Amino acid sequence: MSLHQARHWVFDMDGTLTLAVHDFEAIKHALEIPLEQDILHHLAALPADEAKAKHAWLLEHERELALNARPAPGAVELLRELAGRGYQLGILTRNAHELALLTLQAIGVGDCFAAADVIGRDEALPKPDPDGLLHLAQRWQVAPSQLIMVGDYRFDLQCARAAGAYSVLVNLPSNPWPELVDHFALDCGALLGQLDGRSN
Ligand SMILES: [Mg+2]
Repeated sequence: MSLHQARHWVFDMDGTLTLAVHDFEAIKHALEIPLEQDILHHLAALPADEAKAKHAWLLEHERELALNARPAPGAVELLRELAGRGYQLGILTRNAHELALLTLQAIGVGDCFAAADVIGRDEALPKPDPDGLLHLAQRWQVAPSQLIMVGDYRFDLQCARAAGAYSVLVNLPSNPWPELVDHFALDCGALLGQLDGRSN
């Protein structure tokens, strides 16, 4: 499958459709998580009480970020174009489902997604596990190889690879993971241009 044939698009949210505002180092500092550890994995291994309290802190912090979310360059235009073509659109995020809906509304694209196609950290195993992509492929009744996964981080690309989907990297100045990336675009606006054949 190529970029031009894709009718089923899955997006990472934070840093892909929105400007990156998550300060993961600050979050880890506040929750006493070693810098080299994954936040969700770390919380999952804690005693129940402590995990609950830290999850609550994380949700509150992320709610604030969601309400103040700003769209990444070209993200709204790309989503409007794809939705206008009648393509299937989904979100696969390590953020929480409710906060993802809030964020999508805040950047003005809430109507582009069915709520059930917004997969958060409680609806599937977190990326880089392919679980969320496989879930969407099943919902949409297509092979995972028909999916495009657009993201700004290694986990998004590894998730695409593991599912057999087509991977697109955006919002980095260059491509640090050529072995994981099927297509690279500077941002969603550039990706839209490449879809239209206006530029490369
Ligand atoms: Mg991201």
